[in-house]
Amino acid sequence: MRYISTRGQAPALNFEDVLLAGLATDGGLYVPENLPRFTQEEIASWAGLPYHELAFRVMRPFVSGSIPDADFKKILEETYGVFSHNAVAPLRQLNGNEWVLELFHGPTLAFKDFALQLLGRLLDYVLEKRGERVVIVGATSGDTGSAAIEGCKHCENVDIFILHPHNRVSEVQRRQMTTLFGENIHNIAIEGNFDDCQEMVKASFADQSFLKGTRLVAVNSINWARIMAQIVYYFHAALQLGGPARSVSFSVPTGNFGDIFAGYLARNMGLPINQLIVATNRNDILHRFMSGNQYVKETLHATLSPSMDIMVSSNFERLLFDLHGRNGAAIAGLMDNFKQGGGFSVEQERWTEARKLFDSLAVDDAQTCETIAEVYEQTGELLDPHTAIGVKAARECRRSLDIPMVILGTAHPVKFPDAVEKAGVGKALELPAHLSDLFERDERCTVLPNDLKAVQAFVSQHGNRGKPL
Ligand SMILES: *Cc1c(COP(=O)(O)O)cnc(C)c1O
Repeated sequence: MRYISTRGQAPALNFEDVLLAGLATDGGLYVPENLPRFTQEEIASWAGLPYHELAFRVMRPFVSGSIPDADFKKILEETYGVFSHNAVAPLRQLNGNEWVLELFHGPTLAFKDFALQLLGRLLDYVLEKRGERVVIVGATSGDTGSAAIEGCKHCENVDIFILHPHNRVSEVQRRQMTTLFGENIHNIAIEGNFDDCQEMVKASFADQSFLKGTRLVAVNSINWARIMAQIVYYFHAALQLGGPARSVSFSVPTGNFGDIFAGYLARNMGLPINQLIVATNRNDILHRFMSGNQYVKETLHATLSPSMDIMVSSNFERLLFDLHGRNGAAIAGLMDNFKQGGGFSVEQERWTEARKLFDSLAVDDAQTCETIAEVYEQTGELLDPHTAIGVKAARECRRSLDIPMVILGTAHPVKFPDAVEKAGVGKALELPAHLSDLFERDERCTVLPNDLKAVQAFVSQHGNRGKPL
């Protein structure tokens, strides 16, 4: 399988190189040159497979030529073996034909584990084969950091540095990062906000001289391997609900457009999906595009669903590329315009094409709390605020009551106690068994000033399993 850039000017890469690449050299994102397509009979034959075996069948074409089948199978069995629920991604019914796909049974209780548990293992496998080491520098406002550290903690060939804004992530989120020890794990609290952290990561990619030749790898959702891993659970859910003979709809709590883009790919690979709902919080750039064909940056608002607090959705470029007939020059033009502060609309027929599949809704904090309370009252299920936004959007935007509606349950409510408390649900939140002593564990973290040079000096001092690069 070969991968090409959405801006058309970077060299095509194989899977191994795309795994290690991050952004393409032309500023674009990598996508498969040709998407695999499965027949209905083939998909139907996968009904009842354990999650890791389904994962093998769905993802195999993407890694072909880079990872032999037997090795890939073993990696997948290990990856999904760490999830605490036997079904890995169980469905729970909320209402007639309405289901939550629980994606929070991984080590850090959010769906990001599906991709990052795999990414860590794939990196280690590929690096071992090449005899190389890499450094990961990532920024987090919460969920990504802990999932990335959990995914890489056993990697022999990876040193991981995660920057989070000092005193600005929740205690559960902080402890999920800082209580993981290992000579290759480095938590850095920056005396600044999330944007400061992200700027430092970007600057480090732009000028990597401080790494003395060691390669820098991206773990945010621009990494193709993350998208790839997320395609699998769309197939998994549909097969449980009568697919592919029957079509299914999904509502997806959305920030960077990574998770829902995986659903779009599942459909293009042959899975009958009727409707994809983009559910956003008050940071609603995607809703403004889907409802009014305006892609324009606005100020950032802090909400009760912090993992969806974004101004710009990086993976949206991957959808735009398809909407423009895979014309890289057109995308480079749009993005240039956007960068100058212009924002953009797309031609009417392209927008209409997108709207055949996508609907959207923006949900504010008050509605989020109302939905948590309502669902708790109706079913006894406690939703996290991100999932609640998905439920609200599903109920508002649903096209057909005959088609099963699956809401992606992106996080466990225990990660977001503020929202649950504000919703007025009088249920005590309990950490799952593997995290029950989280509040007693020792923490390890280095506080650094909001200064790029200081951070880069720290990385080069500790980037080789705690020793200098
Ligand atoms: C990351 C995250 C999202 C948003 O996913 P995207 O792929 O960025 O759209 C939604 N909910 C939770 C809990 C998350 O951690």
